[in-house]
Amino acid sequence: MDFKEYIRVIPDFPQPGISFKDITTLLNNGEKYREAINELKKMVSDLKIDLIAGPEARGFVVGAPLAYALGVGFIPIRKSGKLPYKTIEVGYDLEYGSDRLAMHSDAVKPGQNVLIADDLLATGGTISTSVQLVRELGGNVVGTAFLIELSELNGREKLPGIEVFSLLQY
Ligand code: IMP
Repeated sequence: MDFKEYIRVIPDFPQPGISFKDITTLLNNGEKYREAINELKKMVSDLKIDLIAGPEARGFVVGAPLAYALGVGFIPIRKSGKLPYKTIEVGYDLEYGSDRLAMHSDAVKPGQNVLIADDLLATGGTISTSVQLVRELGGNVVGTAFLIELSELNGREKLPGIEVFSLLQY
């Protein structure tokens, strides 16, 4: 099954030179969305997973259905200031400026096995920040899963020793 035909590629978005991979066209197709999540489920089937964590917002549309399919819990990772309870936070650099990601401080118990999921792996900044959050609470990051990996940006290099599963590579 080639899912690429369900991904819409938008040139020069959000800025000139960027070729944006738009997953909304896959999400719009119930059958293909389900197949894509089921494929990711197969790819991680050898892992022992207690929880899936996903960074907002598109990490939710991959991580939450995958958690549902596996029958494990889901942890939302959000931008600073959005979560209602006590949080831990980690800052990360963006191309222009910086941002902070947060997770509830009781979301992971020490020793729990966590898979981190997002729609797309680019430079790896978002996912390596998510890895730091899980590890700060004593969780084991057992792998990362994506619909799309932009291979030439070498995001994997920011995830040493962590398995990376991606459905599509560009
Ligand atoms: P990274 O932190 O550089 O790996 O960028 C990954 C994050 O940026 C993910 O959370 C994606 O949702 C978002 N992102 C970057 N490029 C794209 C794209 O082409 N399509 C969809 N999301 C993207």
